[in-house]
Amino acid sequence: MQNRDKLYIDGEWRMPAGSKTIDVVSPSTEEAIGRVPEGTPEDVDAAVRSGAAAFEGWAATPVSERAALLSRIHEGLKARADEIGRTIAGEVGMPLKLATRIQAGSPIFTFSMYAKMLADFRFEEKVGNSIVLREPAGVVAAITPWNYPLHQIANKVAPALAAGCTVVLKPSEIAPLNAFILAEVIDAAGAPRGAFNLVTGYGPVVGEALAKHPQVDMVSFTGSVRAGKRVAELASQTMKRVTLELGGKSASVILDDADLAAAVKGTISACFLNTGQTCSAHTRMLVPESKYGEAARLAVETAKSFTVGDPFGDSAKLGPLTSAAQRERVRNYIKKGIEEGAELLTGGPEAPEGLAKGYYVKPTVFGRVNPKSTIAQEEIFGPVLSIITYRNEAEAVRIANDTLYGLAGGVWSRDEERAKRVARRLRTGQVDINGGPFNMLAPFGGVKQSGKGRELGRAGLEEYLEYKSLQLKAEAKA
Ligand code: NAD
Repeated sequence: MQNRDKLYIDGEWRMPAGSKTIDVVSPSTEEAIGRVPEGTPEDVDAAVRSGAAAFEGWAATPVSERAALLSRIHEGLKARADEIGRTIAGEVGMPLKLATRIQAGSPIFTFSMYAKMLADFRFEEKVGNSIVLREPAGVVAAITPWNYPLHQIANKVAPALAAGCTVVLKPSEIAPLNAFILAEVIDAAGAPRGAFNLVTGYGPVVGEALAKHPQVDMVSFTGSVRAGKRVAELASQTMKRVTLELGGKSASVILDDADLAAAVKGTISACFLNTGQTCSAHTRMLVPESKYGEAARLAVETAKSFTVGDPFGDSAKLGPLTSAAQRERVRNYIKKGIEEGAELLTGGPEAPEGLAKGYYVKPTVFGRVNPKSTIAQEEIFGPVLSIITYRNEAEAVRIANDTLYGLAGGVWSRDEERAKRVARRLRTGQVDINGGPFNMLAPFGGVKQSGKGRELGRAGLEEYLEYKSLQLKAEAKA
């Protein structure tokens, strides 16, 4: 049991203003594995004031010193990689090996990426008679979800600190333990007092207090569309800068000349990663009508190879869903798919055999899904794939674009140029061509209701910078 009874505010571990706590529950045993403070608006106020007081000094700190801090944080996280992997496997339920590689590996990389990027980032530029400065946005509230908890935290904290902003982090109440490790690492790395603060608690209390606080200049939010809208609404009252990384319903478009076996396997892997709890999951597989039978057969075969079980065991490729609420939500969507007439090819709403305890669900594939039906339109956030057929390329593009979301996607074809042409027609933030891997240096984010703004890469740093132009008087002619 990890009992965390303090918040990290103004460079020290402090008792919270209130006395309530939040239990962190293991999704595989359904038992409490940790406890964190339930923060209050008073805690938020103390943290924001600290961030505001630290801002001027941190913003003026030479870029090389900011880079050196990020490098020390990178080293500190690296030294605790196994512990981070275990902690996140415990609170999220992702199998340990994968959690150590992805959930610990990615934030470690992110801090070093931004440390290196600072070496050649141009914070000022001469344009005509102006010097155009890139200045830090101010005090940043970072509000993050539970599915890739430290990855999403690092995507905000690393570029914000790199830019010269100060940060108040509110991690997800469902998987907050990893954030305490980061706070310890940042403290040990010697961050100046107030540059980074951690307040745990619930969204409607701590999250909203941050989104409203007059001394917060920017909110960077990752989570659901519902909460993102609320945050944007509150933040607009004081004209805060807002970036939103929200949900998705991404399509994998398999063209008629694709290597079908590779495409189906790649799509299911991109759909089931982290038990389907991935915002960029490829949850709709679009196949030509003529290939449906073969695609359905391959999909069932691949889905069945995803063994479900204990994240700390040796054999599971899929762990449980992260919470009881998630399990209910996913089961209800599976029932809805059946009700709405989709063909259940494998899986279903019942618990997998031998796994009555823990928030497990069966990897599920639906065939002949109507593109307008609920399971083809709404984000399920579980290991549920919908196969949709199309008659020609134009129809495939139309179906792919016909949701409220636009976060990710894929195109598969033996002709890469053709795949790229189709990819350009998709209204979405990212497209993987023939299973091209995730690239942390490329901008990540969505269009339409998948959000606003970008994370990762250079674009991820630029989100935390404002422009200022200094106009110089024209030089006197000699
Ligand atoms: P959520 O919206 O419930 O919670 C996200 C965070 O917002 C949590 O810290 C939560 O406490 C806080 N929050 C909740 N209500 C709030 C409010 N009224 N005001 C302020 N803060 C509030 O989402 P979740 O269930 O943690 O995460 C799942 C969702 O996140 C999915 O929709 C998924 O697609 C999305 N997501 C998006 C990305 C991306 O980069 N686009 C990445 C991961 C997850």
